[in-house]
This record gives sequence, structure tokens and C-alpha cells, in this order.
Amino acid sequence: MSNSPLTPGVVAARLPAGAYADNFSDVQPVFDRHEARVAADRCYFCHDAPCMTACPTSIDIPLFIRQIATGTPDAAAKTIFAQNILGGMCARVCPTEQLCEEVCVREVAEGKPVEIGRLQRFATDTLMGKGVHPFTRAAATGKKVAVVGAGPAGLACAHRLALKGHEVTVFERRAKPGGLNEYGIATYKTPENFAAREVEWLLKIGGITVKTGVELGRDVTLDQLQAEYDAVFLGVGLAGVNALRASGEDLAGVRNAVDFIAELRQSDKPAVAVGRDVVVIGGGMTAVDAAVQSKLLGANSVTMVYRRGKDKMSASEYEQDHATQSGVRIIYGAAPVKVLGTSAVEGVEFAYTHDGPNGLEMGETFTLKADQVFKAIGQTLTAAPIAKDGAKLVKQQGKIWAGGDCAAGGEDLTVTAVAEGRDAAEAIHASLMA
Ligand SMILES: Cc1cc2nc3c(=O)[nH]c(=O)nc-3n(C[C@H](O)[C@H](O)[C@H](O)COP(=O)(O)OP(=O)(O)OC[C@H]3O[C@@H](n4cnc5c(N)ncnc54)[C@H](O)[C@@H]3O)c2cc1C
Ligand code: SF4
Repeated sequence: MSNSPLTPGVVAARLPAGAYADNFSDVQPVFDRHEARVAADRCYFCHDAPCMTACPTSIDIPLFIRQIATGTPDAAAKTIFAQNILGGMCARVCPTEQLCEEVCVREVAEGKPVEIGRLQRFATDTLMGKGVHPFTRAAATGKKVAVVGAGPAGLACAHRLALKGHEVTVFERRAKPGGLNEYGIATYKTPENFAAREVEWLLKIGGITVKTGVELGRDVTLDQLQAEYDAVFLGVGLAGVNALRASGEDLAGVRNAVDFIAELRQSDKPAVAVGRDVVVIGGGMTAVDAAVQSKLLGANSVTMVYRRGKDKMSASEYEQDHATQSGVRIIYGAAPVKVLGTSAVEGVEFAYTHDGPNGLEMGETFTLKADQVFKAIGQTLTAAPIAKDGAKLVKQQGKIWAGGDCAAGGEDLTVTAVAEGRDAAEAIHASLMA
């Protein structure tokens, strides 16, 4: 007999074969031309537009929306890509409800913003769908730059450097480029292999060589890169995962949420094993993605537990609503005390929390049944050869620059990583041409 949501343990294929395509399809399909024109017509094309100020990459939002309104989506896409070369991915994954759309004057006045994210997706998909790359490189400068990490920060940096005429080599330890765009972002935000297609499109600028399976610290050293290249950019992200520091954490069935999500992105969905009763510990986007996708894989019950209140949760209200609408239960104000079980996890004991004079204090306890537990309480920098004691990297030191999640001030947002990679490229260019 095949498995079902009620099958005990951590098993694959809980759903009928046809259910997976539906469950993991595009969460918000692209506008058609008419819908885009109607949505664009709601924009007031504000002077000193607050939406533009709220965008970490400072896209000229009123301009691109006007270009859509006047029937020139390719020009709109070029406006977006000029500031954010990963504007296609950002249109899919940006928490716009906390950024541009939160401050849109239509949101402030009427509680319904201009749908900036969906308009951005319409424009970028239109141009990318034609296979057109909108920029050409400047004349060769003869300078060589090494970029370590092919995530959003590294790719944005590499593209901007190539545009300026430099020769760029990207070193990436994984088998595929894309960073968390390829291995992290939820499947339903980026279906149909979009991350890989976007990288292929970005590389059409020319002048960028990507070397995958090459790890800084293992296959190449920072000294070698500094000797061989005129500048080095580090965009290595955060590979380490914080521990729960609760007993029983090593029991079978307890897993890092990021590993589960990476497996999901790289596998056929029916082949991914999931528990019957899943508990996700954490309150960020990773926790939401692990919880929602467990439910979509057919887990019978999924509970997210976050140690503080709803207002402190780093996942946006939109993400939290998405989780609850997908059937995930969220418990606020509880922290794990002990993972229970003999050889495999059978439950988790939590304590309700409250603010005390010395920080968060534990109160009454309760137990949740679980055969799978996902840890999603944040990532850390594990880059032994280049950083000490988990401290984030400084933005510039000699001929080495850093940006994205691994650098001080990194915000755990794709769009911020893109902005930092692009800005580092500008700084590198200025320094190389001085
Ligand atoms: C599960 C999950 C879901 C998320 N969802 C969203 C979302 O919906 N929206 C959003 O805005 N943000 C989201 N984020 C955050 C976002 O993905 C990151 O902020 C962003 O990817 C950071 O980009 P980066 O380039 O700094 O790092 P990464 O994307 O982590 O890329 C770093 C790259 O460097 C490589 N690397 C690391 N060490 C080495 C080495 N020594 N040598 C060579 N290569 C190395 C890695 O393999 C990786 O490819 C999510 C994060 C996670 C974990
Ligand atoms: S704030 Fe809203 S209405 Fe004003 S320019 Fe931006 S998207 Fe348009």
C-alpha cells in the first residue's frame, strides 16, 4: 500500500503522484499584458517616490511602471536591470509588503498598494523571455577580478564588473551557481528552474567564467587569489546553522531546515521524505518555507514554534498568513527545552516564554508530538580560512571586498545581497581605474 499523510515516520510519496505539480506550482503567476496595464494605471508616479527609497537597490519604480503603462515593458525591464540585474528573482522573492509596497502612497491612503513586485515580474519576464540581454560590455580594461560565491551578491558583483570591461572568474563550491536562489528559496516562488535560467541569462553579458566545485580554503587560498587577481570579492553567504542547544538534538529525525529545503529544490518532490507530525523551530523565512513545504509534501500536521511574539517574528505578516493558510499552525512565545525520543525523535518539550528582567524567561512546559523536527533558528558564517569566531566579514580590506549575507550589515534578503554585490563592484572598479 502506498503512503498517505497518516503513515507514521519520515517517508516519501505521501500524496498521489498528480498532487505535487499542483502543490509546488507558481504561488503568484505572472500578469498578462492587460492586467499589467491596469495595475500600472494605479500608480501616481510620485515625485520623490517613497517606494524607490524603500528599495535596497533603488530601482526607479515610478519610471518602470510608467514604461509598462505606456506599453513598453522591455524598456521597463531595462530600467529595473540597470539597478538590479537579478530583478527577475527579486520580483519573485522580495518581501515587497515590508519594502516598496509597504510605503506606497496607495497603501498608506487606501490599504492597497500598487502591485510593484508583480509589475516588476511582468517586465523582467517579458524581456528575459525573449532571451535578450539588455547591456553590452565596456572595452576591456585588462584587469582580472576573482569573485568567491555564486549567490546573488557574487553574481551581481560579477555582472557589474564584467559590464565595466573587467575579466571575472567566479569560484563556487557547489555543483551549480545561484547560491540560495538555487538551493534555498522556496520551490513555489521559483518554479520551472528559474534560478538556473536567470544565471544563464545574466552570463550573456560575457567576460565571466564560472568555476563550480571549487572551494576557497580547500581548493584555492585567499593568498593565491590575491596574487593572481587585481581584486577579490567574497560573497560566501552563511553556511553554518545555529544549534538548538536542547538535549536530544542529535536524534534521528532532527534536521536543519536549510538542508531539507535544498534537497527539495534539487529532487523530484515525491522522493523527498517528510514526517507525519512535523515541528519547525524558528520564526524567519526559512522556518516558514520548511513548514509550508512539509505541508505541501503531505505531512499530516505541521507546527511552527517561535520563541517570541508575532510582532518580533522576522517572517513578514504576509509570510505568516501564507503559512497558516497552507495549514501550518504557529505557536508564538515558546522555546524548545528538550527533544524527546530514544533512537528517533518522538516529540519536543517546549516552555512558554515571557520577558523578564534578564531577558526571555521560561515558564510552564508542554509537549508536541513529532517524528520530524526542523531547526530554523538562523545561520552563521563558517568560513574558517577567511573569518574568525563567526564574526561577519568587513566590507573592504586592502584588495579584498565582501558583501551579501557574509558581510557585516548583511540582512538575509536577496535584494540586499544584490545591492551589496553591485556596490562592491563599483568600489572595485573605482579602485582599479584610479
Ligand atoms: C531557506 C531560505 C529561504 C529564503 N527565502 C528568501 C526569500 O523568500 N526572499 C528573500 O529576499 N530572501 C530569502 N532568503 C535569504 C536570501 O536567500 C539570502 O539573503 C541571499 O541568498 C544571500 O545572498 P549571498 O550571495 O550573500 O549568499 P548565498 O546565496 O548564500 O550564496 C553564497 C554562495 O557562496 C558559496 N560559497 C560559500 N562558501 C564558499 C567557499 N569557501 N568557496 C566557494 N564558494 C563558497 C555558496 O555555495 C553559495 O553559492 C532565504 C534564505 C533561506 C536560507
Ligand atoms: S509610491 Fe506607489 S503610487 Fe507612488 S510611485 Fe511608488 S508605486 Fe507609484
